[in-house]
Amino acid sequence: MKAAVINEFNAPWQLTDVADVRPGPGQVLIRVRASGMCGTDLHVHHGAFPLRTPLVAGHEPTGDIVELGAGVTDLKVGDRVGVFWNQKGCGRCAVCQKGMPARCAEASTWMNLGGGNSELMLAWSSGCQLLPDGVSYEEAAPIFCAGYTVMSGLRNATPKPGERVAVLGVGGLGHLAVQLSKAVGLETLAITGQENKRAELKSFGADEVVIAGDDIGKRLQALGGVDVILSTTNAANQISSAFEGLRPGGRLVSMGVANAPITINSFSLLANQRELRGSTQDERSDLAEALALLAQGKIKPKIETYPLAQINTVRERLDAGKVRYRAVLLHAS
Ligand SMILES: [Zn+2]
Ligand SMILES: [Zn+2]
Repeated sequence: MKAAVINEFNAPWQLTDVADVRPGPGQVLIRVRASGMCGTDLHVHHGAFPLRTPLVAGHEPTGDIVELGAGVTDLKVGDRVGVFWNQKGCGRCAVCQKGMPARCAEASTWMNLGGGNSELMLAWSSGCQLLPDGVSYEEAAPIFCAGYTVMSGLRNATPKPGERVAVLGVGGLGHLAVQLSKAVGLETLAITGQENKRAELKSFGADEVVIAGDDIGKRLQALGGVDVILSTTNAANQISSAFEGLRPGGRLVSMGVANAPITINSFSLLANQRELRGSTQDERSDLAEALALLAQGKIKPKIETYPLAQINTVRERLDAGKVRYRAVLLHAS
């Protein structure tokens, strides 16, 4: 099978033939149809994760199950599935025993079995989610990291009807956060520093596009403040600033890897009973909810598609900040 192999960090990925794989007990073999490229893949490329080469990245894969390993009874050959990051906890640690396998320190991921930038990939059956009828492989792919992440972020912010949400950082994750927040009926603001993005952010359903300079908090307060901030930015100073734009009792959910420690004014935290929390892909129901909204046409990932052969070009585009808003690699059928 062909796979985009990372043999060395900070070097082009090698599209090469590798040995076919067979599913072990509890695993399935998937013929990959599409695979999204996430910002995290750039961190992998740059060697920011403690990983050993060679490895195959790609954690937004969708495709068809072509073979079942021993003991897999819930999935069938021919099922259309996607695979999410934490596919299976160890099952034995205190976190797994509490029913939180996604938080298990020993969780099995694409790093263990290989990612989706490959013709065929292995996955644990527990890491596969059925695609709803009618959704395409390429539009479903970004839901498996970007969409899942922001849906969990939104749910972890526990928004109440009538509350106001602001999305900070409107890229691959953020453009879906705007759409998901609107899709569940919340007033939604999109924050950007660029006036020329206004029309596009409106097209994602934002009720208001907030053009903010350095003082995001002040700008939000001038508009009456917000109850929830869904932050996908990597800029720690923006997170700190935006936090000041929360109404009393407001929650900021950070889903980006911040480039520095996040500084929060202690008085503003306690006097306003604000919350700062982190969130990644959480409850499986969050993924199901995002996929259902996709199937209902209530959200639509804005994607650029490329053949797998162009994976290095895509990675460079993403690294240069040129992708609008998610790049998805299409695999030959
Ligand atoms: Zn990702
Ligand atoms: Zn565990």
